[in-house]
Amino acid sequence: MLAASPQQVEVFSDEGCVDAYNCAVAAANECARINEEDGAPADEPFYTWQSMCIEHEEQPAGICPDCNQA
Ligand SMILES: [Zn+2]
Repeated sequence: MLAASPQQVEVFSDEGCVDAYNCAVAAANECARINEEDGAPADEPFYTWQSMCIEHEEQPAGICPDCNQA
Protein backbone atom coordinates (compact mmCIF):
# COMPACT_ATOMS: atom_id res chain seq x y z
CA MET A 1 0.00 0.00 0.00
CA LEU A 2 1.22 3.47 -0.81
CA ALA A 3 1.28 5.90 2.05
CA ALA A 4 -0.15 8.74 0.03
CA SER A 5 -2.57 11.32 1.32
CA PRO A 6 -5.63 9.49 2.63
CA GLN A 7 -8.37 9.02 0.08
CA GLN A 8 -11.78 9.40 1.59
CA VAL A 9 -14.28 6.90 0.21
CA GLU A 10 -17.83 7.19 1.49
CA VAL A 11 -20.70 4.71 1.45
CA PHE A 12 -24.09 6.28 0.82
CA SER A 13 -27.67 5.25 1.31
CA ASP A 14 -30.48 7.32 -0.18
CA GLU A 15 -30.44 9.23 3.08
CA GLY A 16 -26.79 10.20 2.83
CA CYS A 17 -23.39 9.03 3.96
CA VAL A 18 -23.52 6.00 6.22
CA ASP A 19 -19.83 5.08 6.45
CA ALA A 20 -16.42 6.30 5.38
CA TYR A 21 -13.20 4.52 4.50
CA ASN A 22 -9.76 5.49 3.26
CA CYS A 23 -9.75 2.60 0.79
CA ALA A 24 -12.04 2.09 -2.20
CA VAL A 25 -11.79 -1.69 -1.90
CA ALA A 26 -12.93 -1.63 1.71
CA ALA A 27 -15.79 0.70 0.83
CA ALA A 28 -16.86 -1.45 -2.13
CA ASN A 29 -16.73 -4.61 -0.04
CA GLU A 30 -18.77 -3.08 2.77
CA CYS A 31 -21.21 -1.68 0.23
CA ALA A 32 -21.70 -5.13 -1.32
CA ARG A 33 -22.05 -6.72 2.12
CA ILE A 34 -24.78 -4.38 3.38
CA ASN A 35 -26.61 -4.47 0.04
CA GLU A 36 -26.71 -8.25 0.25
CA GLU A 37 -27.66 -8.14 3.92
CA ASP A 38 -30.61 -5.88 3.12
CA GLY A 39 -31.61 -7.90 0.05
CA ALA A 40 -31.02 -5.09 -2.42
CA PRO A 41 -31.53 -6.01 -6.09
CA ALA A 42 -28.23 -6.10 -8.01
CA ASP A 43 -29.39 -3.54 -10.54
CA GLU A 44 -30.78 -1.20 -7.89
CA PRO A 45 -28.51 -1.24 -4.84
CA PHE A 46 -29.63 0.48 -1.66
CA TYR A 47 -26.07 1.55 -0.97
CA THR A 48 -23.48 3.07 -3.26
CA TRP A 49 -19.92 4.23 -2.69
CA GLN A 50 -18.04 7.22 -3.96
CA SER A 51 -14.46 8.41 -3.76
CA MET A 52 -14.37 11.92 -2.41
CA CYS A 53 -12.13 14.76 -3.55
CA ILE A 54 -8.98 14.93 -1.46
CA GLU A 55 -9.14 18.72 -1.46
CA HIS A 56 -12.88 19.06 -0.95
CA GLU A 57 -14.36 16.36 1.26
CA GLU A 58 -17.91 17.29 0.31
CA GLN A 59 -17.34 16.71 -3.41
CA PRO A 60 -16.94 13.52 -5.43
CA ALA A 61 -13.46 12.81 -6.78
CA GLY A 62 -12.96 13.27 -10.51
CA ILE A 63 -16.04 15.44 -11.00
CA CYS A 64 -15.38 17.85 -8.13
CA PRO A 65 -16.84 21.18 -9.28
CA ASP A 66 -14.42 23.10 -7.07
CA CYS A 67 -11.35 21.46 -8.67
CA ASN A 68 -12.77 21.57 -12.19
CA GLN A 69 -13.53 25.26 -12.22
CA ALA A 70 -11.83 26.86 -15.18
ZN1 LIG B 1 -11.94 19.30 -5.25
